[in-house]
Amino acid sequence: MADITPTPGIHHVTCIAGDPQRNLDFWVETLGLRLVKRSINQDDTSTYHFFFADAEGTPGTSMTFFPWSGMSRGKVGSGQVSRTAFRVPEGSLDYWEERFDRHGVDYDDRLERFGEPVLPFRDPDGLPVELVEVEIPETDPTTPWTAFVPAEHAIRGFHSVTLWLADPTPTQDLLRTMGLDKVGTEQAAGDFPGDERTRFAADGPVGTYVDILPTIESGRQGHGTVHHVAFQTPTDADQEAMRDAVRSAGLNPTPQIDRHWFRSVYVREFNGVLFELATSGPGYTSDEPLADLGGRLVLPGEFESRRERIEAGLPDVTVPQAETPDAD
Ligand code: ZN
Repeated sequence: MADITPTPGIHHVTCIAGDPQRNLDFWVETLGLRLVKRSINQDDTSTYHFFFADAEGTPGTSMTFFPWSGMSRGKVGSGQVSRTAFRVPEGSLDYWEERFDRHGVDYDDRLERFGEPVLPFRDPDGLPVELVEVEIPETDPTTPWTAFVPAEHAIRGFHSVTLWLADPTPTQDLLRTMGLDKVGTEQAAGDFPGDERTRFAADGPVGTYVDILPTIESGRQGHGTVHHVAFQTPTDADQEAMRDAVRSAGLNPTPQIDRHWFRSVYVREFNGVLFELATSGPGYTSDEPLADLGGRLVLPGEFESRRERIEAGLPDVTVPQAETPDAD
């Protein structure tokens, strides 16, 4: 393990949604993330791929969706990322509860986890999401997007993902191989109360934690579930070393695949969760200026030559635009 660079944390999380307009409205207008890339599923060009992130598309901030209208509702269960948590500044959960009341968001009572206040809620497809209050340092790498939510309350990238696993042991060993350290256990609050929640931590300030809860509750992929979680392997060399390490651990990673804004290796871990290793570059500003991110449909590489046909096959959507900053 000596020659791998430990992952700094989560790079992005990719999920399955239903209606694309409803997905855009919620993640941009209600939650206040920036649409940093509007593209297509490279394996199914009649489906969008939306990327929601902080103002600059910083690694560790992007939540991405395939809105597959034809698919049915999924069920969160074992072998999945069951919860995706975002960081918000200390003291901002009152603002979020009030905002959720105004926007009709389905949320639960706050709870405390490893000493931090957590607000669990669901997006319009039933995807379980959480906001966690943390102290955001002056030097934080994320930049708040303030079109809909003021900076002092804005979402600042990922806090953690929670994995539901039938047999946690081999996955915990894998996380150690990837450079995360076990930092604590506590009796779970919220989901599976009383069961043991184990927390692993990466090195970086964003997307730092992976929590594990043991369960055999069955799941099914569909609307409102996570498709995969990507971890940061900043350079190609970091990624190659990590790929070798997970292969030595007994897994079967793919070759490197060019995803245009980053390069990716996919590996299904021992309990069935799909992990990705993603490079930091070239990044979301490699094909659009920072000021224009998300403004147009971006078709990478060969797809550009088929733009007319691809656009004709996609549903029309309108990206919410703030006319004036939110009055609260
Ligand atoms: Zn991905």
